[in-house]
Amino acid sequence: MNLILLGAPGSGKGTQAKALAQRLKTTHLSTGDVFREEIAKKTPLGTKVQSYVTSGKLVPDAVVTEVVTAKLAALQGSFLLDGFPRTVEQAISLDGYLKKSGKKLDRVVYLALSEDEVIKRLTARRNCGSCNELYNMVSKPPKHPQFCDKCGGKLVQRQDDTEETVKKRLMVFRDLTEPLISYYKAHENVFEADAAGVAAEITETIANELGAPAQ
Ligand code: AMP
Repeated sequence: MNLILLGAPGSGKGTQAKALAQRLKTTHLSTGDVFREEIAKKTPLGTKVQSYVTSGKLVPDAVVTEVVTAKLAALQGSFLLDGFPRTVEQAISLDGYLKKSGKKLDRVVYLALSEDEVIKRLTARRNCGSCNELYNMVSKPPKHPQFCDKCGGKLVQRQDDTEETVKKRLMVFRDLTEPLISYYKAHENVFEADAAGVAAEITETIANELGAPAQ
């Protein structure tokens, strides 16, 4: 099943994408993760996108689309896109690519969350500096506030989760990504999931809707 997961920053996209990809045995592709890895490795792509990512601006459509279509072209089997598309332009490019390559989108899942909740969650977000496991001090707290449950690594906060950058990212979401939800509602079978609540229960609701076998 080929899927797109849409939602504001902080709506739990990354957490849900990882859990659903495992559950549905599909490949998780997060453009944010790709960019953060490239930045950490100081590759030419990383250098090109660094200022956008750290300041909460969108990387230009052409750059992201090239990265995603190259990854999809190299992929065997199905995909779950997390963080792409982010603009209507990107969605149109993706549609064109899928059509050309004989692939199709099966479902779009939208994680709906109020803006107040988004701000509360983003500032509470942490990830493991070693294995990249995601936590949220409010909705998915680690057993110990500073260390990863899985590997014991130190928990860190993303550079773009500061209050000022969070506000900018939300503005970007409202201006550029929200229209995308209407775009998909007009073209595709969109499942809107209430993203307020416990992460594992939200995964269960979405997995049921997508017809994943019970665990
Ligand atoms: P994320 O982890 O999905 O919140 O993405 C982190 C940052 O990576 C965003 O704030 C953007 O700077 C960049 N980024 C990720 N995906 C895209 C995309 N589809 N289009 C443009 N920029 C993106």
